[in-house]
Order: sequence, then structure tokens, then C-alpha cells
Amino acid sequence: MRFNGDSFAAGGGRGPSKARGKQEAIRLTADHLHLAYVMYIEQREREGIGKSPGEEESFCLKCKDGGDVLLCDFEGCVKSYHMRCCSLKKVPEGLWECPRHRCINCGSGPSQTDSQGHKREPDGAKLRPCRTCPVTYCDRCLPEASMSEGDTGEVVCVDCQELHHSDNSLLERDLMAWNPDLFTST
Ligand SMILES: [Zn+2]
Ligand SMILES: [Zn+2]
Ligand SMILES: [Zn+2]
Ligand SMILES: [Zn+2]
Repeated sequence: MRFNGDSFAAGGGRGPSKARGKQEAIRLTADHLHLAYVMYIEQREREGIGKSPGEEESFCLKCKDGGDVLLCDFEGCVKSYHMRCCSLKKVPEGLWECPRHRCINCGSGPSQTDSQGHKREPDGAKLRPCRTCPVTYCDRCLPEASMSEGDTGEVVCVDCQELHHSDNSLLERDLMAWNPDLFTST
């Protein structure tokens, strides 16, 4: 089991942290974090980061915040999660593979562990993980409304599409002026 320890809410490597005089505190919402995460993975893609061990993501795929995150042991997977976001009460011993390697509906997929890290029988089902959250379907269970994402095999699930399609300009403005000292958690 491996951990990573950056934090978004604490400003983990994400720009200036000096307070700039008096300014209205910005309430840090789940929508902010989602958009920040999208910007984060897009930047990593532009820079070609995230294909090798040691290049795991610093933010939880479920809630998009940082802190102590659990790293997935599936080969080539760079996603990270809080234990609480995976309903894990204790750190799994041995292998732990994240929700992107099992269908959320029928359970098929190449994962060698279940959500709690217990061994299970993998199969060859082709999976369609959502680009921006842990929701993953096999080809047979994939809802028609899912949006295909390039040639990576990833999709954007129905819930995440809502955020992609809404007007994010206000959120973006907040994030451009990113300063952790100005944000209060909700
Ligand atoms: Zn989380
Ligand atoms: Zn994974
Ligand atoms: Zn399925
Ligand atoms: Zn999603």
C-alpha cells in the first residue's frame, strides 16, 4: 500500500500562497474542486506526465481534494483516493485496486481485488472508466448517455457531463486567483 501526501485545499504545489491584503473569502465548493481537477489532468496531459510509476495524481479522484491519498496498485493506474472516499476503514494489506478496474454495475473487469482489497477472480471485460470520477462501466453496462472521450477508452459519465456543460467562468475566475488563504472549506 502506498500513500501520497499533497493537498489541494492546503495549496499543495499549486501557486502563490501569500495573502494579498483584505479580500472576501471564497467558499471552496465541490464544483471548484472538480474544475481544478479537470485543469490539473489537462495540464498533466499537455506535459506528458502520468504514465509512469511515481507520477501518480495528488488529488482524490472521488472528491478532488488532496491530503493523504491511497494509490491504486493496478499496473499503469495513476489515480489516487482518500480512504474515506472508498469506504475503507483500514489500509488494505497487500494489493488494492481502485474502482476503475471493475464495472460498477456487474463487477466484471481485470481487477484482482474487490473494493476492500480482497482477492477476486479477474476477467477480460473491456471497461469504460469516467475521465473525471471513479464511475466505471463495462461495455455491456455502459449507459447510452455516456460521452465518449477520444481514443483512450474513457468516457464522461452523466453526472460529470453536467459540470462540463455548465458555465464554469465564475469558478475559473476564482481558481485563476488561486490563493489557498482566501478559500474557506465548505
Ligand atoms: Zn476524496
Ligand atoms: Zn486504479
Ligand atoms: Zn458491467
Ligand atoms: Zn464521472
